[in-house]
Amino acid sequence: MKISVAPAVETALELLFPAHCVHCGANGELLCELCILSLSPYPDAACSKCGVLTHGPDLCERCAADPPAITRLIAAYQFDDIARDAVHALKYDDIRALSPILGTLLSESLIGRRRTPDVIVPVPLHSGRLKERGFNQAEALSNRVGELLGVPVDNSILKRRVNIPHQTRLGLESRQRNVRDALEARQLADGMHIMLIDDVTTTGSTLKIAGAARVDAAVFAKEA
Ligand SMILES: [Zn+2]
Ligand SMILES: [Zn+2]
Repeated sequence: MKISVAPAVETALELLFPAHCVHCGANGELLCELCILSLSPYPDAACSKCGVLTHGPDLCERCAADPPAITRLIAAYQFDDIARDAVHALKYDDIRALSPILGTLLSESLIGRRRTPDVIVPVPLHSGRLKERGFNQAEALSNRVGELLGVPVDNSILKRRVNIPHQTRLGLESRQRNVRDALEARQLADGMHIMLIDDVTTTGSTLKIAGAARVDAAVFAKEA
């Protein structure tokens, strides 16, 4: 069980135990400058809808044959050792102070590259996991990106349905379908351009959102 401490106590703890880089252990920052500079940007030669490396065409064969609902998937970095350590520390070690750092890096890769969305939508966590973790890392990243891009964040557009059948009894295919079905979108005003945000992967590619003219998805890191 997590023990929560008051902000003053937290500051005192930080003074006693200064931050270490979650990847290399260097003193000072949660993610040091050298590790940030060593992150590998996601390759450009990738399918614009699913991120599979294509070495040429804009769409992979699969997306060309059966285009997903998503307009564009944007991944800032490859899911290498540094990105993995940062995401895991944020999610599983509950180092929430990493979210502004990762959110800033994600914003930097979005600025100037894409049309600005009307609204940013964090991909919701399962409610059980939210209870266990205490926060949604996608929402924490979204808040930072929204702040830097000047775009509102709306966490009421996507919801998870609560009753999810027991996963272990299902095969892989139905399990995937099951996860997909668990996300539910609210009807939007026509013509909205929305941007889904998640830390690593997103189920957005399979999700239709009524009213949205364009649905982009942005993730901090993706396996290349
Ligand atoms: Zn480092
Ligand atoms: Zn594709």
